[in-house]
Amino acid sequence: QCPWGAPNTTSISCSLADVMSEQLAKELQLEEENAAFPEVVAVAEGPFITGENTDTSSDLMLAQMLQMEFDREYDAQLRREERKINGDSKVSISFENYRKVHPYDSDSSEDEVDWQDTRHDPYRADKPTTTPRKGFIGKGKDITTKHDEVVCGRKNTARMENFAPEFQVGDGIGMDLKLSNQVFNALKQHAYSEERRSARLHEKKEHSTAEKAVDPKTRLLLYKMVNAGMLETITGCISTGKESVVFHAYGGKSATEDKVMPPECAIKVFKTTLNEFKNRDKYIKDDYRFKDRFSKLNPRKIIRMWAEKEMHNLTRMQNAGIPCPQVVILKKHVLVMSFIGQDQVPAPKLKDVTLSSEDMKKAYYQILNMMQQLYKECNLIHADLSEYNMLWHDRKVWLIDVSQSVEPTHPHGLEFLFRDCRNVSQFFQKGGVVEALNERELFNAVSGLNITADNEVDFQAEIEALEKMNEDHVQNHGKKLSMFPSDGDPPIFDE
Ligand code: ADP
Ligand code: MN
Repeated sequence: QCPWGAPNTTSISCSLADVMSEQLAKELQLEEENAAFPEVVAVAEGPFITGENTDTSSDLMLAQMLQMEFDREYDAQLRREERKINGDSKVSISFENYRKVHPYDSDSSEDEVDWQDTRHDPYRADKPTTTPRKGFIGKGKDITTKHDEVVCGRKNTARMENFAPEFQVGDGIGMDLKLSNQVFNALKQHAYSEERRSARLHEKKEHSTAEKAVDPKTRLLLYKMVNAGMLETITGCISTGKESVVFHAYGGKSATEDKVMPPECAIKVFKTTLNEFKNRDKYIKDDYRFKDRFSKLNPRKIIRMWAEKEMHNLTRMQNAGIPCPQVVILKKHVLVMSFIGQDQVPAPKLKDVTLSSEDMKKAYYQILNMMQQLYKECNLIHADLSEYNMLWHDRKVWLIDVSQSVEPTHPHGLEFLFRDCRNVSQFFQKGGVVEALNERELFNAVSGLNITADNEVDFQAEIEALEKMNEDHVQNHGKKLSMFPSDGDPPIFDE
């Protein structure tokens, strides 16, 4: 016998027809309700509102539904915060990665809306949904793995968004299109090779712009200068040389170290590719100002030293009143100086202007004067002086490009000076300035030396002998104790 006693077997007096009619009534009522409040039913996404046709007998199911409800609320709150933070800002941040329910996890209409919500920003490439690390979503028979064909297909379609914008992917993104992995991979391969191809096509054009002519680190440096308000805009490239790239920029409002920014600036970017500088070693290796540091430095720092050298030399010239660009700021291998020219148009090089004979003569005497000042007051030899590095602006000559300039004590300094003199003499003699001294006379006039050789070979031999004498002296007395006074006076060789 059953220990709980016999079941009560008294039948309920209820006919089949009654039961049938009761069910019918329920059904009818439900239909009526649905018709009366259709939107309520459509919006009713929560398990508790649509609960009538959901099996709530299982605790697990109940817990899952609660979790789902929580996740949805969590995501809704996340969206609100996202909107609050982003506001009308052009740049928006996305909390999508923090969402509990991901757009591709389910097919519900609510998710469809979410999907659109997070994608309203056309500038943002959407992240494809992630399957959690464990590799599947869901429980029991509802399990969906990352290998699921449908899910993968949708993901693949969504990923097409990440292709380059000019790559035509059709309208598939808007539809429930499922791309097989094979098709997607083929398409991806094609998109990437297209991207590379078009990049190659544009390469030439982009090289001419200010941004692409320099490496990313330099670009960041320039960008920071603009950001700090030092520069207003960098308009473009003035010159691309072997060792440097020069840009034009409009000065910003912000003053650096109590210096007011000039209205227009020239930015000289020393190239960080080292090959270009190999042949310049001799200018800096033997310059005693940098000698101690040279051996300890890595190549990148040596290039910065070039920029530093140009800055120091320009400052000396500025102090002597020689027309030259004014140093604004030095950052690593980037030197910002005042622009010689106007309205983005750099002053022409002396080699490119046609001067009246009067201006030509004026220019010659000005240069003679500047060379003497450079030597006597700045204790410098330009070392690359020619019609290529002199600009004609405001009816006078401006000296530029002094990164290689050295002091007269440099072991080859006098040779450099003689070369400068030859360039200048030849230019002005060819230019019809009858008063122009020949290179040997000019050399003596600038250096204060009196080398009497009347031909070039002997003259150069004497220069080299003087250089050797100077070197020996430096050797004997230690390099810091050169025979030149430290107050910047020119050397006196006749001892
Ligand atoms: P490089 O070592 O490449 O010859 P330069 O200093 O001579 O470097 O600059 C290259 C060119 O850039 C010059 O010939 C000149 O046309 C232009 N340039 C350089 N500095 C200035 C400046 N401060 N103002 C105007 N133009 C400049
Ligand atoms: Mn130059």
